[in-house]
Amino acid sequence: MYSFNYHRPLSLKEAAQSLSAASDGTLMSGGMTLIPTLKQRLANPSDVVDLGGISDLSGIEAKGEMPLSSAPPPHMPRLRQARL
Ligand SMILES: Cc1cc2nc3c(=O)[nH]c(=O)nc-3n(C[C@H](O)[C@H](O)[C@H](O)COP(=O)(O)OP(=O)(O)OC[C@H]3O[C@@H](n4cnc5c(N)ncnc54)[C@H](O)[C@@H]3O)c2cc1C
Repeated sequence: MYSFNYHRPLSLKEAAQSLSAASDGTLMSGGMTLIPTLKQRLANPSDVVDLGGISDLSGIEAKGEMPLSSAPPPHMPRLRQARL
């Protein structure tokens, strides 16, 4: 893994600022694909902006028959949604 700056913003605005200030930043949602990619040195971002702390992006709702999941909810909140 190459070194990078890690950011964990609490708002979308802060995330956008961190990303735009980075020379070669990337977003991380759950990290399931990104972290192995970083570990294998297949990516070399200057900054990683972790979206996991942004409450505006969390949550799951059912729209008709269709479940709508926001960006990065981890597995447990998904499993707690009885309707899903
Ligand atoms: C071991 C393994 C098993 C897997 N098994 C499955 C499986 O069974 N079924 C399946 O469907 N998939 C599977 N995948 C694929 C994985 O679920 C997908 O790649 C998924 O997108 C990972 O989501 P994440 O939130 O962890 O993304 P991350 O790893 O955080 O990000 C993936 C990519 O999306 C970019 N990104 C993240 N958030 C945003 C955003 N908001 N805007 C723009 N770009 C963004 C990142 O920069 C990165 O390039 C597997 C992957 C691995 C490594």
